[in-house]
Amino acid sequence: EEREPVEEARPKTPVKPMTATEVKVNVSIPEAAERAAATGADGVGLLRMEHMILSTNKTPKHYIEKHGSRAYIDEIVSGVSTVADEFYPRPVRVRTLDAPTDEFRQMEGGEDEPHEHNPMLGYRGIRRSLEEPDVFAHELEAFQRLYDMGYDNVEIMFPLVNDKTDVDAAREALEDVGIDPEKRHWGVMVETPSSALVIDDIIDAGIDFASFGTNDLTQYTLAVDRNNEHVADRFDELHPSVLKLIGQTIETCREHDVETSICGQAGSKPEMVRFLVDEGISSISANIDAVRDVQHEVKRVEQRLILDSVRE
Ligand code: PEP
Ligand code: MG
Repeated sequence: EEREPVEEARPKTPVKPMTATEVKVNVSIPEAAERAAATGADGVGLLRMEHMILSTNKTPKHYIEKHGSRAYIDEIVSGVSTVADEFYPRPVRVRTLDAPTDEFRQMEGGEDEPHEHNPMLGYRGIRRSLEEPDVFAHELEAFQRLYDMGYDNVEIMFPLVNDKTDVDAAREALEDVGIDPEKRHWGVMVETPSSALVIDDIIDAGIDFASFGTNDLTQYTLAVDRNNEHVADRFDELHPSVLKLIGQTIETCREHDVETSICGQAGSKPEMVRFLVDEGISSISANIDAVRDVQHEVKRVEQRLILDSVRE
């Protein structure tokens, strides 16, 4: 490897969380890592892998065909390690590929993408990964390489799971590339109502965390297309049905010592932050520009909770 030894990139003192509820940051592209780390966030709650590939303007399959497996894995390793270096030893949660086919279609190789009537309900996230085990294995091998390089702060997150069957299959794929799920921090996004409703089963698959993808959870719970301007005023992440699913999931996860988090856009909204801290969420991930406000909001709610408990 040409990379500098990882030890040299590590800050000497870990950053202490400012609040009991951790406040993390969403990182859109590796280039934003430095600015994101400077917010003082407790880690990265969401780093979307597809941006590292789509920024090359190629679909994953096309990229691998054109440049080879090694280059594809290098691309991911380089993107993730840039962020993991910036944040070390703070954790960086990386989500495996999740782009709808209409987004992939804009890229080189996009002509091979299936045409779907409802891409958001279709071939994306873990569903696609499990149908394309070769591409999926490349991503997971990139994680294995990162662990070999010493990036033990990297965590693996699977998108759009519906049930334990999905999660068992993802876990098996981890094991197939030599990653020990007992040793590494891994989990799922809760972004379909199904995953929230059967979270107790999903916990049995051995996850360490569940992270709310409220962009999708809202879209699927309310049957409101997140990209459709005609129903945009009905897209409400604070709808009682969405909050009910979130609240129940946090409760079940707490009973089983599974961490909970939010990485959807709603994590940057003060009303949502108040609700989540009240419910006992473990961490909140916000946009770079919102981290400071979320830190303060979390602190306010935690102080109120302490005062309430003293008064009781
Ligand atoms: C979400 O659904 O809330 C999420 C964070 O994932 P994405 O926006 O990439 O679908
Ligand atoms: Mg999502």
